[in-house]
Order: sequence, then C-alpha cells, then structure tokens
Amino acid sequence: MNENIIKRNELLAEKVIKGLESRNMTGYYAPTAKDALTKALKLIPEGSKIAMGGAMSAHEIGLVDAIKNGNYDFIDRDAIEDKRAAMLASYDADYFLSSANAMTNDGVLVNIDGNANRVSAIAQGPKHVLFIVSMNKVCDDIDGAMKRARNVAAPINAQRFGLTTPCTKTGACFNCKSPDTICCQFLITRYSRHKDRIHVILVGENLGF
Ligand code: SF4
Repeated sequence: MNENIIKRNELLAEKVIKGLESRNMTGYYAPTAKDALTKALKLIPEGSKIAMGGAMSAHEIGLVDAIKNGNYDFIDRDAIEDKRAAMLASYDADYFLSSANAMTNDGVLVNIDGNANRVSAIAQGPKHVLFIVSMNKVCDDIDGAMKRARNVAAPINAQRFGLTTPCTKTGACFNCKSPDTICCQFLITRYSRHKDRIHVILVGENLGF
C-alpha cells in the first residue's frame, strides 16, 4: 500500500480510537490483515464460545479459519441445521464477530440487516462484540456513514446473495420495499452501556465492501 495512505490511516485511526473511547468502547489499529488476526486472537481467550454475523472482514483476515481450527467453541451457523437454535445460542456467546457497514471518524458504528440476527446480537446478548473494520469504511459523519451503508455495502451484499432488488440492477439504493430487501433494520451504535463489551480492530488494508 502507498506510504501516504498508510500514514493517513494511522493518523485517522488515532482519532477513531479516541472517539470509541469516549463512547465506552475500545479500539485498536492494525496496519495489515495479518496484524489484525494476531490482535483478534490475543483478545479472544481459548475455549470461548464464539458466534458471528455477516463478517466478510473476519473471513478475509483469516480469523474464521483460525477459530474453526483452534480450541474454541464455534457456533457455525452454516453447518447447523436448526438455524433458530444456532441464532438463539449466538446470543449467549462469549464473543460475537462482526464487520461494520460503515462508521464515523468519531466512533459511531452503522449496520444494516435483513434478518436482524447480526444487529440484534450487536445490540445485546453476547458478552463481547469484536468488530473488524477496515479504514476505507470510516466516514466523516453519520450522514456519510449511512450513505456508504446504503449505497455501497447494501447493494454489494444484495448482489452477493443473488437478491431481486433495484440495487442489484443499478448498483445504487432505491430505498425499496422489495420483499427481498436487506435493508430492514438499521443499527447505529453510538455508546456502549457496558464497559469492555465492544471492541473494534481498525485495519489499514482494505477489507470487505
Ligand atoms: S433499500 Fe433496497 S435498493 Fe436500497 S440498498 Fe436496500 S435492498 Fe437495495
């Protein structure tokens, strides 16, 4: 990655981490995906019960494979036939892994969900939530973060799942009420009531979408 981009990401991460701290959340900066993996594995004790929502970034840094192959109690919702049981078990996890659709440079996290399993677990349930968020998802303010979530993340997610929504045809959000819409629930996480619950690893390399 270009040196100037690396420097800019480091400096911006300092501001984001201060913003997270002001909101009773904890942030860390990892310049590379490899550093992010090392940090995540340091934060999660072996033996932890771990669940996850849609978290492409956690896959991309190798965290999901490391957990599957490590000494953890992983609730693998793709492998569990009873999806409702898997969802309910997730609320009792020690760690819930997630990416974010966008966040602000002062530490507010923005997430959109269709089934709401991800946003509901972020909001409450799991003892800890660990976000993996690449710096390209950091926006100036809530307005910018909502625009990113709706016009970048959501259309790409809708395409990924092969859904029939206007955004899969045009690449832009049409504020649809299509039965296939994945924009059913919006969660803005602006403060954590519980200290040590929400941790965010900011990653200098681009991840997810
Ligand atoms: S509201 Fe509809 S058109 Fe807009 S991003 Fe969501 S699914 Fe796509």
